[in-house]
Amino acid sequence: MSNKIEAFMEKVKAKNTGETEFHQAVQEVVESVMPYLEKNPKYLKAKILERITEPERTIIFRVPWLDDKGEIQVNRGYRIEMNSAIGPYKGGLRLHPSVNLGILKFLAFEQVFKNSLTTLPMGGGKGGSDFDPKGKSDNEVMKFCQSFMSELFRHIGPDTDVPAGDIGVGGREIGYLFGQYKRLRNEFTGVLTGKGLKWGGSLIRPEATGYGAVYFAEEMLKTRGDSIKGKVCTVSGSGNVAQYTVEKVNQLGGKCVTLSDSNGTIYDPKGIDDKKLAFVMELKNVKRGRIKEYATKYGCKYLEGKRPWGMKCDAAFPSATQNEIDKSDAKELVKNGCICVAEGANMPTTPEGIEVFQNAKILYGPGKAANAGGVSVSGLEMSQNSERLSWSRKEVDAKLHGIMVSIHQTCVKYGTEGKYINYVKGANIGGFVKVADAMLDQGLV
Ligand code: NDP
Repeated sequence: MSNKIEAFMEKVKAKNTGETEFHQAVQEVVESVMPYLEKNPKYLKAKILERITEPERTIIFRVPWLDDKGEIQVNRGYRIEMNSAIGPYKGGLRLHPSVNLGILKFLAFEQVFKNSLTTLPMGGGKGGSDFDPKGKSDNEVMKFCQSFMSELFRHIGPDTDVPAGDIGVGGREIGYLFGQYKRLRNEFTGVLTGKGLKWGGSLIRPEATGYGAVYFAEEMLKTRGDSIKGKVCTVSGSGNVAQYTVEKVNQLGGKCVTLSDSNGTIYDPKGIDDKKLAFVMELKNVKRGRIKEYATKYGCKYLEGKRPWGMKCDAAFPSATQNEIDKSDAKELVKNGCICVAEGANMPTTPEGIEVFQNAKILYGPGKAANAGGVSVSGLEMSQNSERLSWSRKEVDAKLHGIMVSIHQTCVKYGTEGKYINYVKGANIGGFVKVADAMLDQGLV
């Protein structure tokens, strides 16, 4: 690490004590962009790095709600409004007991660059709560969401800040949040994305992150004259992103052999075909059960407490959570012949794991590029809401595909190092330049 980067990181760490995931995300971006900034000192003079790592606004609030036993519960709510240089704040809400300020700041920070890469006019934000939806009744989830929105509504709006889903926030939660917003504001507007199709949602939004990650993998493989067809793929998680990753891999002729949740991994060497995927969707989205039940139903292996990375594959799609691939997982993947990693999750690979992939010169697409399909279709949902029209499935999918191809091209433009494409560098510089230039144009903001 150069002295300049080290000095900068010391200040970030001192200012944001204990926020380790935020430090990790900032360090990755600063390492990528510093050589570019040194060649373009106007950014250093304008202190863009110092400004871009400081949220424009951080909102933290109390969320009290009544559980089914009539007992009062208290959670903490957050919204990080990170950067609005190129559009309204945009980014998901996460409901998970691990949620804290550092995790949401890392997610909001990454979102700024991701949204810039999409080519759409969206700033970056993220929010959520330490509420755990697991094991809660629909009524309890609704009570929580209504209380959460009773504070959040005064900070968001279709031209200010437009939240969406993330871990623990799917169609059910967006419905409850939207209902409460509408009630408080007396307005029907596109203030949240991921809405139901009958009330302002966009076709392909649920599919977008998973489909986009597979489109991105396909583009990476194309640079080596290869494709998803015939590839054995490992996928982690079994939520929104994982499910539609499997669907698109199947459509393109590949085979997914794993899925997981926080309890363990299923390994199905015959492949998770569309029928088995329908079972997973019912299990996870309706019954809200554990992935272990897949192993019981289809008689395949269940690896209790394990992640999928020890299984042999050609391509891996981490789609669960941050830092789920460490150095030894990465070594195992490379050793077993994995040639392509496309991140559906945000920051799923540790810095040491990334180094393993890059040293092995495999295709490695970081989350801020590979999973940008979700927010891209959220952006398209905002456009449809503004013109009060809805586009066809084919139209939205074609736009999503076009955006993923364009993100890949940006990565190639800024990340090519001889014969190797460093997608981390490409995504970070490509995402940074547009936001930094907008900040320069807008004066001291
Ligand atoms: P879901 O809540 O639908 O699914 C999350 C899945 O990951 C579940 O299977 C969950 O298991 C597992 N998981 C979550 N946390 C952990 C953990 N700490 N350890 C092990 N497993 C875990 O979320 P999404 O599919 O929406 O999100 C998955 C990832 O994709 C996240 O990193 C998110 O930020 C990212 N992402 C999502 C987008 C979207 O559009 N939804 C857009 C871009 C990125 P369990 O049920 O046991 O908790």
